[in-house]
Amino acid sequence: MTAPFSLAARVTGLKPSATMEMTERIRVARAAGRRILGLSSGDPNIETDPRIVAAAERALRDGETHYGPPAGIAALREAIAARETEVTGTGIDPDDVLITPGGKFAILAALMATVEPGDEVLIPDPGWVSYGPCVRLCGGTPVTFDCLNGYDAAALDAASGPRTRAIIVNSPANPSAHAMSRAECEAVLEIAKKSNLVIIFDQVYADLAYGDRVARLHALPGARERTFVADSLSKTFGMTGWRIGSLLTPPGTAKPVLKFLQHSLYCTPPFIQRAAVAALTIADEIVPAYRDTFRRRIDTAVPRLNAIPGIRCARPDATFYLFPEIDADEREVARFWLDEGDVAVLPGSAFGDAGRRRLRLSLACPDAELDEALGRIETLGLAAHETS
Ligand code: PLP
Repeated sequence: MTAPFSLAARVTGLKPSATMEMTERIRVARAAGRRILGLSSGDPNIETDPRIVAAAERALRDGETHYGPPAGIAALREAIAARETEVTGTGIDPDDVLITPGGKFAILAALMATVEPGDEVLIPDPGWVSYGPCVRLCGGTPVTFDCLNGYDAAALDAASGPRTRAIIVNSPANPSAHAMSRAECEAVLEIAKKSNLVIIFDQVYADLAYGDRVARLHALPGARERTFVADSLSKTFGMTGWRIGSLLTPPGTAKPVLKFLQHSLYCTPPFIQRAAVAALTIADEIVPAYRDTFRRRIDTAVPRLNAIPGIRCARPDATFYLFPEIDADEREVARFWLDEGDVAVLPGSAFGDAGRRRLRLSLACPDAELDEALGRIETLGLAAHETS
């Protein structure tokens, strides 16, 4: 049946995510009864700690089933402000923290609050698939900048023009796993100051870094006042389905931004927020083990991939993503591995042009599945798809 009205261009004009083609192929293969080894999903195979689940259950039984404060409950805003104070070395006021249902909504809220129709927003290439659509939902135009080899002031300057309003920066990054250095953060800040840009810093993978602590852009002198920081408990705590995250706002902007939350969501469910407080309370106890698991998988997978002719895989020092270069067409290889090996990976070009001749492998599946998937990849190689 066709609807007797037309839908708004706002939604009809949104392109389905470029990861959709593979996701659909994977769904069809699974529906046909094939056992697909999944190296494609960004959902870590971490079971939410039972203490976090218990906190949500307790809150439900205690009657936290009503509207809560639109900005979030005080205990969670305080806990996030304390963490930010610790990692940035700058006093962060809980009043500047807004609670959101996940990092994605935090990014959307920051864009809603800053982008006027017709404004351009710089987004990373390669970059996470939702940045462009979120910018478009706000009436803006996404403009990509190349950051495959890191952030560089000249490239950013070249991408920005008179209509540029904001820049989205992601560190550590999906899909490249690149963690920005302090110098790269400074390059972004320099351009943002020069062109008076808002910075949206997406740090949802910041807790999954295996070397030095990740540089925080908003910790640089002069950055806080123009930087929104999107964060989330999804990846760090295995809480993707809980939908819980936060937006740290530049001082003095939380109240106007809050109006968007108030008139769209009203609030993030209070019992979910209680679970988040419990998660942050036990973070130092549980997160190191998650990090060790991902690091171990990286140590296993990187040399095995590098031993395959035509594949070059750098060792990431953050996230659970690998983004190897391949001497072949990335879409063909992703289809080949799925069709012939029942292994699901994503073509790098799903994340932008800079991802051509690369694949994204997510090490978010159980160890045994990863081992089996790597074995099949070793057997298949790039096969006939290899080009020189
Ligand atoms: N930012 C990046 C770079 C991501 O990869 C994701 C999820 O995959 C998100 C933000 C949003 O995550 P969530 O909305 O689950 O917090």
